Amino acid sequence: MADYDKLAGLVERDQDHDCTGYGPDQVCVRVAGVAELPTRLGRFRIVAFWNNRDAKEHIAMVHGDVVGASEVHTRLHSECLTGDVMASLRCDCRDQLLEGLRKIQEAERGILLYLRQEGRGIGLINKVRAYALQDHGMDTVDANLALGFRDDERDYAVAAHMLLSLGVQSVKLITNNPEKMKQLELYGVKVAGRIPHVIPPHEHNSFYLQTKAKRSGHYIDPSGFTHLSEQSDPVMVEGMTEGTTAPATPEAGPDGKRKTG
Ligand SMILES: [Zn+2]
Ligand SMILES: [Zn+2]
Repeated sequence: MADYDKLAGLVERDQDHDCTGYGPDQVCVRVAGVAELPTRLGRFRIVAFWNNRDAKEHIAMVHGDVVGASEVHTRLHSECLTGDVMASLRCDCRDQLLEGLRKIQEAERGILLYLRQEGRGIGLINKVRAYALQDHGMDTVDANLALGFRDDERDYAVAAHMLLSLGVQSVKLITNNPEKMKQLELYGVKVAGRIPHVIPPHEHNSFYLQTKAKRSGHYIDPSGFTHLSEQSDPVMVEGMTEGTTAPATPEAGPDGKRKTG
């Protein structure tokens, strides 16, 4: 239980922690609580963080001895109540979350940061409103913008501080998005490598494979719904190659017009 004690020791260490903070918002976090958390995917420790910016309680799901460790397999996940909890098919967040936890459990040690930034920080109400706009025919690009997809930097400062608070020396980031690695490094987290985040195909995401060739990054399921990539990572399903993933923000077509989903 030495690794548990190490994590628990961080709570005491951080009691009066107060630094100049990270990022434009000068965010500072403290390790505020640690407990065992057995899950269907294996045993984790849950680490709860306090921060000085808002009342959002970010957490880390920790597997193995990470304090002072190098090349810790790490996944950043942004909260999605509709996907993570309600198993929504409008996005692929639940698949990304469960696959992330599974990968961390398989590794010798790993961390999943669960960042409480519902709908990219726009909040649940606005996310539901953005869904409604889409229900009424708004195109994918505008729906993405309404969901706050261009505002993708704020996660990394708090994530970086959380990793450094956990004493992580370097990470191997589980991501399809090299931009995420650059951002973390900007805030002083050493990124030793990348592990592609590939989700196994199943009945609900097989449309990714079926439509990738003809729809240029817009994933439409058989019932006609566009599936949005609410995590900043482009979706990658087993059987696809990395070059064919959907961009986080769909681009305009060659005629300069936005493609509509
Ligand atoms: Zn701090
Ligand atoms: Zn989602």
